[in-house]
Amino acid sequence: MGSLKLTSITKAFGNHEVLKGIDLVVEDGEFVIFVGPSGCGKSTLLRVIAGLEDATSGSVQIDGAEVASVPPAKRGIAMVFQSYALYPHLTVKDNMGLGLKQAGTPKDEIETRVTEASRMLSLAPYLARRPAELSGGQRQRVAIGRAIVREPKLFLFDEPLSNLDAALRVQTRLEIARLHRQLKATMIYVTHDQVEAMTLADKIVVLNAGAIEQVGSPMDLYNKPANTFVAGFIGSPQ
Ligand code: ADP
Ligand code: MG
Repeated sequence: MGSLKLTSITKAFGNHEVLKGIDLVVEDGEFVIFVGPSGCGKSTLLRVIAGLEDATSGSVQIDGAEVASVPPAKRGIAMVFQSYALYPHLTVKDNMGLGLKQAGTPKDEIETRVTEASRMLSLAPYLARRPAELSGGQRQRVAIGRAIVREPKLFLFDEPLSNLDAALRVQTRLEIARLHRQLKATMIYVTHDQVEAMTLADKIVVLNAGAIEQVGSPMDLYNKPANTFVAGFIGSPQ
């Protein structure tokens, strides 16, 4: 389970309307990419879905239930950011398990889930290290591991690879694609990298100035862009 339905979502900061009526359905298990220029509202939309910001109007439903009054920790969502936000004084193992510990998960259950996630992410040899002793790619994998151990219905990734160099970006992208198949989880992923969008997505949502320009499969958008904005963004001939 992990379907999402957004209906007429708006978000204003003061009199600046950042989201202007977003309607979107994400099916359980889909990999959906949000693309669009810097400042168009991608991160704000993820934060509204996660409950880190309240929408000004509109509704967010997860698995058919309105979540307006559900706090972020209870939405079954895990978010992975561009900055890894790991605790420098904690080991990899404790960084990955901290959220579960805070939620009162029994110690042996935390141990099991952290061990399993560290295997999936090839982090098993590094569990005793601290973030400063890891490469950027390994740190980002710890941040992904921290999301996986919570067993969320919905993963939200906000430009997770943009701090990595080109080779690591490719490797981590393939790893995220593999995790998606393995976990069968719903994933929403923000990027401004066309290659990431075209290779990862079941469905791409093109945003521009707080509104959706087009939603479709990578091939739909490439072959039948709704307008020159989409064509320019996806890189199809105009
Ligand atoms: P993106 O992720 O697509 O680059 P954001 O969602 O971060 O865009 O931002 C969209 C717009 O909302 C920007 O103009 C940004 O300055 C504004 N914004 C985002 N968060 C806040 C906030 N907390 N207060 C005021 N303005 C904000
Ligand atoms: Mg952003």
